[in-house]
Amino acid sequence: MAYTIVPELCNGCGACESECPNHAISHILKRYVIDADKCKECEGDFDSPMCADLCNTDACVPA
Ligand code: SF4
Ligand code: SF4
Repeated sequence: MAYTIVPELCNGCGACESECPNHAISHILKRYVIDADKCKECEGDFDSPMCADLCNTDACVPA
């Protein structure tokens, strides 16, 4: 399982990118995206998915 970023909800703040423990979030072609192969839903690092917790626009959702 992985999380994904809903483009219409993401305001491009960039806050999530540096917080991902698996470096799964990148800024590509002016969009923030999650690499599904790298996202482990923060298992072993945080109690809940960090990107979803910190995103102000609820753009990070289960894929
Ligand atoms: S924290 Fe949310 S709004 Fe900010 S870049 Fe990440 S997904 Fe987009
Ligand atoms: S759920 Fe965790 S591992 Fe997956 S993209 Fe978000 S911060 Fe990274």
